[in-house]
Formats: sequence, structure tokens, C-alpha cells
Amino acid sequence: MKGEKCNTLAALATAMSSGEVETVDLTHTLDSDFPVIVLPPEFGQCAPFRAEVVSRYDERGPGWYWQNISMCEHTGTHFDAPIHWISGKDLPNASVDAIPATAFVRPVCVIDCSKECAENEDFLLTPEFIQAWEKQHGQIPAGDWVLLRSDWSRRSSAAYLNMREDGAHSPGPSADAVKFLVEERDILGFGTETVGTDAGQAAHFSPPYPAHHLFHGAGKYGLQCLRNLDQLPPTGAILVCPPLKIKNGSGSPLRVLALVERASK
Ligand code: MN
Repeated sequence: MKGEKCNTLAALATAMSSGEVETVDLTHTLDSDFPVIVLPPEFGQCAPFRAEVVSRYDERGPGWYWQNISMCEHTGTHFDAPIHWISGKDLPNASVDAIPATAFVRPVCVIDCSKECAENEDFLLTPEFIQAWEKQHGQIPAGDWVLLRSDWSRRSSAAYLNMREDGAHSPGPSADAVKFLVEERDILGFGTETVGTDAGQAAHFSPPYPAHHLFHGAGKYGLQCLRNLDQLPPTGAILVCPPLKIKNGSGSPLRVLALVERASK
């Protein structure tokens, strides 16, 4: 490589121009109607997205349109940094502004649990399920993102949160699956289509909210409220997911993209 330019990016540029590599948008539109997580009433609450017009080609600004916006760091399709959870609060580089940029462009494995989630809204991803997936697609490489495809993003607002008297009912990883992905696979982060990385009933798991507690405690990242995971291959795509660079930010809404290689015709 010394003194000689590597042609990898040129090959990528060609593949993108020809459509051999496509860009898939995994992001929901930021909209005041998009559901945010609801905590028990004694806790502080996550704010939905709000937009207020500053001017729109009118007396407030005759030639231009812009909006002031506000939201929680965890509104809409968003990124969770390790500092989001108490278990990750003292780790180095644990806030969105301090995470090394290499984390934001990495390979991704997609575990399809959509059939199981259609049959069981409390479906839990287990180490056994992951290992069965690996028998087909190969071992999850260290440093990859792992996404749980549930097709949950197709649900409408009420069915999306799926709150009942005993709390939310939505799929997620078991505590053992989180431990497996941290200790045995050393993944970079874990993403879901649901409102959180944890299952709806995860307050009752041991430890409570294992995806938040164990992933963030190990310096791993989270993504949630993803969509279009059905357009991704099980392996081989590249995830592009840079959060906003908020000082000491615990997370951030973001645009999540995937570069996907299409089979040549
Ligand atoms: Mn979050």
C-alpha cells in the first residue's frame, strides 16, 4: 500500500453509481405523532418531537422557511450511548460526543425474528436462537452491529407501544442473549424496531432491563425505532448511524442508513 492508492473507495463509488450497492433508509420520520416510550408516572418523561415555524416566506422571513425543533434525546429513531444507563456512567467515551467515529460506520448482522414475533408479542431472542442463526450465516464477528428484525415497525401507534395494565408487550433480547452477545461475541451495539432495546416486560427480568444494563455497562451502543430491516441481508450490509454530537449527550435522534449489495442480475 506504500505510496500506492488503494482502490476500495473507487470500487464502492462505481458500485453505488451502478446501483449494485444501494442505500436503504432505516429511519422513521420525526413527527409529533410518533410514539415515545412511556415510563411509570413517578418518573420524568421523554418528550415527543415538536416543531415551530420561525418563518415560511412570510413577514417573519419573506424569502426563507425554517423551524425551531425540540425533543428528547430518545425520541424517534435514535441512538443510545453507554452513559444513558447508570451501569455505563463512568466508562470512557460514553457520551455521544465522545464515541469514536468508527462506531458509526460498521458491518451489521440482522437476525430475523419476524415470524416468531408475529406469533408471540413477548418473543425473546435467546442464545440458542442466535446460535441457530449462526449455523446458517456464520458466527457474528466482534465489532459488528446486531439488529433484531421483528417487523414491529409496521404496527400503528397504539399497537406499537402495546401497553396493557401490566406494562408494555413487545419483543427483545433475554438477559442470557445480551450476556452472550457481550461476552462471547463482543458486538459493537444492538438495535431494534421497537421503542427500546429491551423487551416490553424487561423490568421483570434479572437484571431489570438487561439490554440497557449489560450492553451499556460493557460500553456497547443501542439503536431503536428502526424500520425497513426486511430490506437488509442477514450479513454483509454496512450500517451508517452517526448521532448528533450533543455535549455529554445520552443519545440522539439520527438518520440510520444501510449500504446493501444487491445480487447482480
Ligand atoms: Mn433510548
